[in-house]
Amino acid sequence: MGTVQIRDVRKSFGTFEVLHGVSIDIEDGEFVALVGPSGCGKSTLLRMIAGLEDITAGEIVIGDRVVNDVAPKDRDIAMVFQNYALYPHKNVRDNMGFALRQRRVSKREITERVEEAARILGLEPLLDRKPRQLSGGQRQRVAMGRAIVRNPNVFLFDEPLSNLDAKLRVQMRSEIKELHQRLKTTTIYVTHDQIEAMTLADRVVVMNGGVIEQVGAPLDLYDRPASLFVAAFIGSPP
Ligand code: ADP
Ligand code: MG
Repeated sequence: MGTVQIRDVRKSFGTFEVLHGVSIDIEDGEFVALVGPSGCGKSTLLRMIAGLEDITAGEIVIGDRVVNDVAPKDRDIAMVFQNYALYPHKNVRDNMGFALRQRRVSKREITERVEEAARILGLEPLLDRKPRQLSGGQRQRVAMGRAIVRNPNVFLFDEPLSNLDAKLRVQMRSEIKELHQRLKTTTIYVTHDQIEAMTLADRVVVMNGGVIEQVGAPLDLYDRPASLFVAAFIGSPP
């Protein structure tokens, strides 16, 4: 099950506390956006869910398992970063299948899963190309394909579109939306772009300075912002 519970989670780097006790309950299949100004702790929280940062205090539960001490590869998640981190010497097919080979999935199953993901993302004609032969949008699709083939219960995105130009960003935004409608995989999506958050998410979590200011459906945040900060950050409907 792709539920995620974040229970009073804190994070300190040395003596500097950057998350001051954050709690969110995410339902299976939900699309949740984390928004807030740069430095407010979005990436740190996402990295703790992924297992890339230790949890200083509190608990993170994925499905029915407390994952505080579970290694990233054993959590039922796949993460897509802003810098796609593709292997430059591997073609698209091998970039997408690499994590599965590490997990000893059979060759035949890898081929099937890679081809299915390529179909979903329109990457079929590009499977034999190297990353340098791809456009920015195509590379971002490969990075998403790499997450899809793992068939996780939770997708984590950290500003996946912020390196793309405005036009492509809008196009990829609708592709991500379609992908979620199709797969219904629980998604936690970090962005500093409130419009992106409001158009994609079932619920938006507004963070500021290491705390959650408000959690709500996009229209609720527009209609009933809990603070001046939220009102100013969210702005008015596009
Ligand atoms: P956001 O993603 O919202 O921009 P981050 O989660 O990256 O914010 O950072 C939150 C705060 O934690 C910032 O003040 C940042 O400088 C600090 N921080 C993040 N990673 C580290 C680290 N590895 N060591 C020390 N401070 C860090
Ligand atoms: Mg960040």
